Amino acid sequence: GEEFEEKICLYTGAKHSILVNNGTSGLRLALHIIGVEKNEEVLITPFSFVATANAISHLGAIPHFIDIEEDSLSMCPKALEKRLNKIAFKKDGKVFNRNTGRRISALMPVHVFGIPSNLSGILKISKSWGVPIVEDAAEALGSWFNFDKNKIHCGLMGDLGVISFNGNKLITTGGGGVIITNNS
Ligand SMILES: *Cc1c(COP(=O)(O)O)cnc(C)c1O
Repeated sequence: GEEFEEKICLYTGAKHSILVNNGTSGLRLALHIIGVEKNEEVLITPFSFVATANAISHLGAIPHFIDIEEDSLSMCPKALEKRLNKIAFKKDGKVFNRNTGRRISALMPVHVFGIPSNLSGILKISKSWGVPIVEDAAEALGSWFNFDKNKIHCGLMGDLGVISFNGNKLITTGGGGVIITNNS
């Protein structure tokens, strides 16, 4: 286990990695770690495997769908910004949906088929609203962002990223997953 975690850190450049039993529980744990609670909303996209939404539901939280963009097939920064400007407001440093009254506590873009999401666009919005990012990098082992002339592995631009080792993924342990992060 520890040796595998070290190899994941070495390969991805992550400071930390934590092995978990699968990608779904990794996503659920990552959301829990960044403070997502019951009845809160997590913004995701409708173009993904069902586990993205399940991880949210398992916490008793609610998936809230933002449209995708053509290039990345993942969360469209423009659609995200437009939606937040329309429905969200800030109170005591937290963001709420004025239609539902629920807190919006995380963004979870998915790197579909290993194609990196538009994280530079999504990060700007995450920072301006103060809503953290969990990257669903389940399908993205070996996918890299080109960011400011640096290569950054998918999952390491947001607060936490999760890679899956299920049988249909890039490498497999039968079932398994790992949380990666640079945030100690
Ligand atoms: C596979 C996958 C997951 C879940 O991973 P499991 O290890 O199967 O639980 C989550 N999100 C996406 C996009 C996936 O492809």
